[in-house]
Amino acid sequence: MISAIPSHPLTIAEQRISSLPSIYTDSSTMFLLDPTTHVDSSELKANNIYQLLNNKIHTVDQTGTQKWNKSIPTNNNEWAQLFKSIPKLCKEPKLREFHFKPLHRIVVTRKDLCKYRIKPDSDCIYCGEGDSLEHTFMNCSFRKTFFVRILDWLNEEYQCTFVPSEKEMLFGINGNTKAVRRLNFTLLFMKYYIYGRN
Ligand SMILES: [Zn+2]
Repeated sequence: MISAIPSHPLTIAEQRISSLPSIYTDSSTMFLLDPTTHVDSSELKANNIYQLLNNKIHTVDQTGTQKWNKSIPTNNNEWAQLFKSIPKLCKEPKLREFHFKPLHRIVVTRKDLCKYRIKPDSDCIYCGEGDSLEHTFMNCSFRKTFFVRILDWLNEEYQCTFVPSEKEMLFGINGNTKAVRRLNFTLLFMKYYIYGRN
């Protein structure tokens, strides 16, 4: 088959191949994935390949966290901590999923429903102002009053003095004590209730 290729393009192809740097090192199982990554193919497992793929793809911050940073500045360590904390938050898969979605800004609000012409307007059902992700989870006056009342009840019922910041109200408090886990679960359930009725 190679003999059927005219000699001129064949010579050019051979020259180009010979000028390429070899990705294989001295060992037959080792190769260079990129200038800084040595890979031993005999040791490769599925999770290693997944990790290498992730490193290659995730070269910039995700858009969801970038957008949140505009209203709630959060550094990369805090984001990493937030995503790692999801499995510890609760056992209910639906609530875990619900916590994950707003972090990635992949929940649908009435603003989106109006945009897709599923709802006639984008008004918040609680206060009548224009709805959005920030409105539902941060700025809605009904949400603020509701959260304060529940927080007062929680502090009184369990003899604690939690005063979460806006960011902590939205994403939960860092920590793993029983009291913190109780508070984070309560905050999550409040958001789930508010969003579910919207
Ligand atoms: Zn509202």
